Amino acid sequence: MPIKESWLKAADFTDTNTNPYPTRQSKEIVHARRDAIIAIEDTVLEMARFGKKLVNHGLTGSRFGNISVLAEDGILITRTGAMLDEIDESQVVLVDRDKTCDMDRIASCETPVHRAVYSKTDARAVIHTHSPYAVALSLIEGIVTPIDSEGATFLGSMPVVDGGFGSDALASSVSDALVEHKACVARGHGVFAKGFDLRDAYITASMAEHSSKVRYLVVWGKR
Ligand SMILES: [Zn+2]
Repeated sequence: MPIKESWLKAADFTDTNTNPYPTRQSKEIVHARRDAIIAIEDTVLEMARFGKKLVNHGLTGSRFGNISVLAEDGILITRTGAMLDEIDESQVVLVDRDKTCDMDRIASCETPVHRAVYSKTDARAVIHTHSPYAVALSLIEGIVTPIDSEGATFLGSMPVVDGGFGSDALASSVSDALVEHKACVARGHGVFAKGFDLRDAYITASMAEHSSKVRYLVVWGKR
């Protein structure tokens, strides 16, 4: 099913297209359906904006990482293989919030991780990056503790967790870590940052790499 059709299906509260005599109630449904699609389109524009910022600021390579936002009818998440600085409607999939679904086949392979985070925490947006300094630290430390003032104050420590790409083990370890922490680092892999919206998740992902860079340069760079 084309991606946008899956959005329409999710917003299709009843089949008003085949009703030749629209009632007031069916008109309201059409308006609600239109509003749901507009909300999804606006969210995709936001995902595109922050995807570009992630790549432009070196927080991840274009080919790596994924972004998701909790929507009215599920989770909007980037497709597998999506370039984060080239996100448009064709690169975003709507998947079920609570269970696997058909669209999982073309959604990011990390969809189970995002789904587990939404299930277990208060997150409304999740950003996953392959930020180089965070990845480097995750290979030499068991927990990443910011020593810069902003990271120490606003980010807090980031547990280093284990699990293969998109695995149940990674979904479990990341979601457990994000109950009490804003971000964590999958060992040798990358950062998972949560937020109450996409902007909040972006700020956390940005702080995660900045704090990792400062810590790496100070603690390990002098050896
Ligand atoms: Zn990854």
